[in-house]
Amino acid sequence: MNETDIAILRAARILQRHPSNPWQKEIQDLLARAEAGENVTVQLIDLLRQNQNVRRWMYEQIADSSAFKSFEPLTGDEGDIPASQRWVCPHKGCIAKSLPVIREGEDPPVCEIHNVPMVRRAR
Ligand SMILES: [Zn+2]
Repeated sequence: MNETDIAILRAARILQRHPSNPWQKEIQDLLARAEAGENVTVQLIDLLRQNQNVRRWMYEQIADSSAFKSFEPLTGDEGDIPASQRWVCPHKGCIAKSLPVIREGEDPPVCEIHNVPMVRRAR
């Protein structure tokens, strides 16, 4: 497994904390296959590039690996994920990873460190 595979698997695990993640089952299956030694990077990329916010979020998570091109914003897309389109911990300076807003009206994810619901605003 190379650096890219590891970066994508790490991001997929973070995304599993999102209660409204519609691919919970698919990602769980792929992570299990990865743990069994299979390379599931291509499948994870196909799955996670479908939603615009998730795509941008993935791009940020793996920006320092060579796989980031798979998540490059589409033409006409702004690129960076807007502050209102991500979930962050309400505690200032919290180091917990942000999560993407997958769809409007979804339940907020919980901060893994403070165990409080995350909020949609810039840090
Ligand atoms: Zn926190």
